Amino acid sequence: MGVLLAAAGCEMLLLLTSLTSQPLMPVLSRIIQYFCILMALVACGSQPTENDSPVVKPESSFAADLMPLVAAYEAEAVMAGAPVAPEFRRQLVQVDWQNDLGTQGGETVLGRCERLNENHPDPDMRFRTIRIRRPDARGYVGSTRMDALTLRTVVYHELGHCLHDFRGHLPETTHQLMSASLPKERFQSFQALLQQHFSLLKTKHKH
Ligand SMILES: [Zn+2]
Repeated sequence: MGVLLAAAGCEMLLLLTSLTSQPLMPVLSRIIQYFCILMALVACGSQPTENDSPVVKPESSFAADLMPLVAAYEAEAVMAGAPVAPEFRRQLVQVDWQNDLGTQGGETVLGRCERLNENHPDPDMRFRTIRIRRPDARGYVGSTRMDALTLRTVVYHELGHCLHDFRGHLPETTHQLMSASLPKERFQSFQALLQQHFSLLKTKHKH
């Protein structure tokens, strides 16, 4: 059974995303955040901030137990013919746990990809960060059990935003990795999910 989260909220937030991609709104587009929420999996939105001063480079911070997932994602992407652009990989300066990422649409946020200084003329001054909500001692975040497959799905979803620069979300009804929500049984056939993910990136999301 799938759990669909905050569909209306996501649509609204996606609208904000398209607004911020307009050149007329450089201030809002300076920092774009993607918030991801997960129950059975992943509802996600984006939210601009009104911070108009460029941020300094965030301190590098890579959690040893998350980086193998990043490496695995990159390897899968290469094998699928949709390799990660070196520029985006360089810009990713944090992949780490965080104790609290807040809530969105009444649900606990489980992961977040942020793009910082997105319009900075110097690509080396643009940064990307991923933070994953740290589960409690029982391995839960709220009512979501963060087992290995769930964690992998959350991290891959964020990597889709941060490393493949995927903006917004696919319709929930398509049940893709970059959908706003996903029935649990869908990400239990993870290979099929991945295959479709990279195939879509290859054909529809070139940068
Ligand atoms: Zn997302």
